[in-house]
Parts: sequence; C-alpha cells; structure tokens
Amino acid sequence: MGSKLTPQEFEVSKITNNLIKKSPVVWFLWKKKYNWPVEFVSDNVETVFGYTKDDFMSEKVMYSEIIHPDDIQRVQKEVISQSKTGTSSIIHEPYRIITKTGEIKWLNDITLIRRNKNNEITHYEGIVIDIIEQYNREKSLKESERKYKVLSEQFRLMSDNIPDLVWSKDLDGNFTFVNKAVCEKLLIAKDTQEPIGKKDMYFAIRQRKLYPDRKDWHTFGEVCINSDEVVLKTKKPQRFDEYGNVKGKFMFLDVYKAPIFDNTGKIIGTVGHGRIVTKEKEAEKQLQKQNKEYEILNKKYIAQNKELEIAKEKAEESNRLKSAFLANMSHEIRTPMNSILGFAQLLKDPSLEPESKNQFIDIINNSANHLLNLINDIIDISKIDANQMNVIENECKLNEFLFEIYQFFHSEVSRKKGQLKIVFKKGLADGNDVIKTDITRLRQILINLMGNAVKFTHEGLIEVKYILTKDKQLLFSIKDTGIGIHKKDLTVIFERFRQSEEASTRKYGGTGLGLAISKACVELLDGKIWVESQHKKGSTFYFTIPYKKGTTPKLEKKITIDKSVDLFEGKTILVVEDDIHSTLLLEIILKPTKATILNAKDGFEAIEVCKKNTNIHIILMDVQLPKLDGLKTAKEVKKILPHVPIISQTANAMHQDKQKSLDAGCVDYITKPINKKELLQKIAKYML
Ligand code: ADP
Repeated sequence: MGSKLTPQEFEVSKITNNLIKKSPVVWFLWKKKYNWPVEFVSDNVETVFGYTKDDFMSEKVMYSEIIHPDDIQRVQKEVISQSKTGTSSIIHEPYRIITKTGEIKWLNDITLIRRNKNNEITHYEGIVIDIIEQYNREKSLKESERKYKVLSEQFRLMSDNIPDLVWSKDLDGNFTFVNKAVCEKLLIAKDTQEPIGKKDMYFAIRQRKLYPDRKDWHTFGEVCINSDEVVLKTKKPQRFDEYGNVKGKFMFLDVYKAPIFDNTGKIIGTVGHGRIVTKEKEAEKQLQKQNKEYEILNKKYIAQNKELEIAKEKAEESNRLKSAFLANMSHEIRTPMNSILGFAQLLKDPSLEPESKNQFIDIINNSANHLLNLINDIIDISKIDANQMNVIENECKLNEFLFEIYQFFHSEVSRKKGQLKIVFKKGLADGNDVIKTDITRLRQILINLMGNAVKFTHEGLIEVKYILTKDKQLLFSIKDTGIGIHKKDLTVIFERFRQSEEASTRKYGGTGLGLAISKACVELLDGKIWVESQHKKGSTFYFTIPYKKGTTPKLEKKITIDKSVDLFEGKTILVVEDDIHSTLLLEIILKPTKATILNAKDGFEAIEVCKKNTNIHIILMDVQLPKLDGLKTAKEVKKILPHVPIISQTANAMHQDKQKSLDAGCVDYITKPINKKELLQKIAKYML
C-alpha cells in the first residue's frame, strides 16, 4: 500500500469511504483463532455494532462474544462444518448480535475462507449486513400475511354462515369473492371457488338452459338494470331491487352495492350484499292488494253510506208525505162524511120541501161516491204494493168506451163550470176501433187523468184524444188549460202522495194517489205515462198502451130497465145476508119488483131454505157469512138447486174474488155498495 493516491483515486476513495460509512454492509477480516479476533474491519463498523473499529482491532471486543448466546453455537457449527468440506465460503443463516448499546440486530453474513499455500485456513473474510430493516419488513409482511389469513378465514367463516348473499366483483363484473349463500341460492355453483373469475350471466344462462320450455321465467340479470354499471358510474353505494327465477322459482333480492377503491382512490370493483325478500315482497304485494281491496271496500261503504243517507232522507220524506197524506185523508174522509151525516140528519125533518130533499139526497150520494173512490184508490195502492194488480183483457169498442167516459165528464163540466169545454177526438174510425185491453184499468187511468183535468182547470178547454202511432201504440192525451205544474214537480207528481205546490193544491183536495195508480196501471198494460206542462198555462198528460186489434166484442145481453115496478112479479128471490141493513136495502130495492123475497142469515139457514123451497128463481149470496161462508154455501146450494143462478155480493173489490165466486158455481158477482140499476140488470139478465 505505500504508494500515494492520485487526486482522482483519492476522490473515489473518499466517496467509497463515505458510502461504506453509511452502508449497512460491514467488511470483517477475522483471524482463525478462538473467539474470532478481528484483524481488520471497515470503518462503518460502529454504525452497525456500536463498537469502534479500534474496539475490535485491539481485541477488546471479540467477535464471537457479541453474537447472541442463542445463536453462537449454531454459527460456530456452520463455520466448523462448512470449513471441513473444503469450500471457499460459508453461508450462514441470519444470526443475532448484541450491539454496544445492548440492541439486538439480525445480520446476514457471507464469509469467505482464506487459506495459505498449504491449504490451511488462516483467516475468515466476511461481509456482514444489518438486515434489521429487511427482517422487519419481512416480519411485518409475514405478520400482515398471517393477519390477512386469519381475517380472510374469519370473513369466510362469517360470510358462509349467514343467510344473506355477499360477493365482490372486479371492474369487468367477474366475481372475486362469493359466499356460500351466493353459490347455493343464486348461482347454483358447486362451491365458492367456481364463480371466481366468472360473470353472473354465465350462471344465469346455465340455469336458463335447464328450463327451456318455461319462457315466462327470466333469470337474474335478464330484466333488471345492470346495477354494477350504475355503481361504477356513480361511484356511490346504492340499493336495488333485483329479481329473477332460480331453479324455476321466482326470487326477489334486496341488494346493496358499493364501489371498491384502492389506496390511490381508483375504482377497482364492487361489493354487494343481497337479502332474499321474496316472501316479504309477496306479503307486501298481498298487503297492497288488500289495501286496494280495502280501498274498494271503503269506497263501497262510502257509497253504501250515501245510499243509506239517501234512503234515510227518502224514509224521512216518505214519513213527511205519509203525515201529509194522513192529514189529507182525514180531510178527504171527514168532508164527505160531514155532508152524509149532516144532510141525513136534515132529511129527518118532515116539513122538508121535496126539492130540498132531492138536493140533500144528491149531496149524500155524491159524498158517498167520493168516499168510495177514495177507498178504491187506497185498495188499488195496496194491490200495487202486494203485486196483485192483474191484467184481464177484454175486447172493447174504444170509441164507444171513451165516449161514455167523455159524456160523464161532459155533463159534470157543463154542470159545474160554464166557462169550461171538453172535447173528444177519436183516432180510429168506428168499426175499426175494436181493441183488446184491460178496460177496467184503462177506464181507471182515463177517469183519473180526466178527473184531474176537470179539477185543476177553471176555464178554457179540455181535449181528450188518442191516435194510433207508427210503432203500433195507442197514444192518449188529455190536454187542459188549467193551473199547470211547476217544472220541478213534473216527475214527482207520479210518486204516491205527491202533489204539486202542496199548499195551494190543498184547496183542490185529493190524496196524491191518482197519478201513482195511473202510472202503475199504464205500466201494467205495458205502456208509458208522462206529462208536459207550463205553470199557469195548462198541462197535457200522455200515456201509451200497445195496440192490440180485437174482433167484434160479444154482444152482452143488455137489458134496459126503465122502471122496476112489477119487474119480477111471480119470481122468488132468496137473499142470503147477515147484515140487517144490507138485507133491508135489498128488500127496499126489490119490493117494487113484486118478487117474493126469502131471507137467510147464514149458510146453514140458506141450505135449509133451499131444501124447503124448490121454486126459488135466483139467489143473492153474500160472500162473507158467519158459520159457513157464502162460497161454501153456494157449492152446497148448487147440489140442491143446480139450475138456480147465484149472484154473489162482495165488499171486496179484488179480481180474484170474482173468479172465486165463479169457481164456487155463481153466475156473476156484484160489489158493495150495491148499485140499484146494476143489481136489477144482473137479476134480470140471469132470471128472466
Ligand atoms: P190528487 O189529484 O188526488 O192530488 P194525483 O196523483 O191525481 O192526486 O195528482 C197529483 C198532483 O199532480 C195533484 O195534486 C196536482 O198537484 C198535480 N196534477 C195532476 N193533474 C194535474 C193537472 N191536470 N193540472 C195541474 N196539476 C195536476
């Protein structure tokens, strides 16, 4: 070494020295002696060992003494064993040394063996590297690997033992992790490894192929939005509804997805969590359905409530109307009763002029007829309610029939109101006017409408007419120039008990039943009824009935009775009647006819009388008799006197009663109150 260094060499040596000083690599030259005394060591020895170069080279510090007691034997063994092999180098496993400050450091030691010419080992020359940093790094790596392993095992354990689905995917949508639930419930993969590196569509398609005929099933991913893409685009955690068929069964997933970022903030994939909520969704659907049903029910209830409200209002209205009706009825009954009773009292006066007497009798008659009409109306309303209004069709000559009614009103109009005229126009020529209809009902309708026209018209004209329409309907109209009807009342007047401007019509009387009955009758005959009216100008009531052409009606044996005197002379009439007043009335009516009158007060008496008197010519039989009723009696009497005609008398005005009488063997029936003319006509018809 004695030669001087060139300035460049000196510079290089300086840099090398500096480098060496800072380097963790220390160069040693050990003597092959006990305890490995150091012959030479590089300048940087202090940075690693804490001892100075001098400490070593003065042999104050022996190298073997600073090796960790736990490692020294191994290191010695490595030296001895490897030296023996004749190798030129010794490779040590890293060992520890204890520095001057007592710090333990790990070293890597690569030792070269120096031999002399005789191949005897003289020195060991080695590079010793402080590997603490590398060691620490490796250690922490190992530690973090261990921790990672523990964590991932724990995570795997956790995720495989929950019912929910957990997974992660890379940017291309390939699975990087799936838990057991994903495999078993969603992908139908054989284990948690199978899906790694594959996309979910791979499994969806595989599932689909298993059910080729079920076109209605869709697999996951087929109809849902690509939620991975949404998460990658928005870079935000989000919730999705995902659904599809797995093993053919519909499944609904409540899915949460979030982006995964690396430590530089770059997106590297997504994580997902899914919960199977099929049942909950079905329950929700069911609930929604139920809610809808409840909504409908609610609406229904509201409607029902409204209906109830309307019904209640109607009931209250009908109550109000009934009260008004009762007040009217009371008035309608009491007024004629007042006349009947009052004038009957006056008749008792022996000094009464015959003219006044006749006038009083007329008043009593009219009042009684009025009462009878009222009772008939009430019976009709009951029949309508009981559905007992029957249609019994007869043939009639319409013009003749209408003319009779017209005449009745004509005489009434001319008698009461000089300012009022009534005209009748026919729509079919005489001879061509035979129709088939229920004339009782038709008469009732016409009398009601014409009666109203007369009642509500003070002056002007009442025009009654009918025409045959193109659609084969007979259209009747009754037009008046009377008080008219308010527009608001045009429909309600056809309801029972309803009157227009009730207060003002009170002065006209009436019960508000006529139009309701007329409407029921028209509808019974398959027709329609309506009204056109202008307040204070007049009204026209229209109704239709189907036109049924008839043949000529049978000519009834018409007996005109001018006077009853001696009419039934030589004839015997049996009157079966329990009511003494009715018996008296019949006797008074029949007395002038000179007929012999026999009486029986009940059915049994009647049978006895018939047995004893075989010369009876006709029997007038009351239907409602004590002990044995009239119809049963009639049947018994027929056995004794089969050829004697029986006419039943009844206070019931039902159609069935007539039929029942005929069935019991009677030839005809007559309703009470008995009309004298009608009674005599009927007796004459069957007896003479
Ligand atoms: P009533 O005549 O007994 O009151 P109706 O049922 O026959 O009962 O008539 C009902 C109501 O219709 C009458 O009270 C009246 O207000 C009105 N009305 C009927 N016919 C006429 C008419 N020709 N002119 C004016 N109002 C009428």
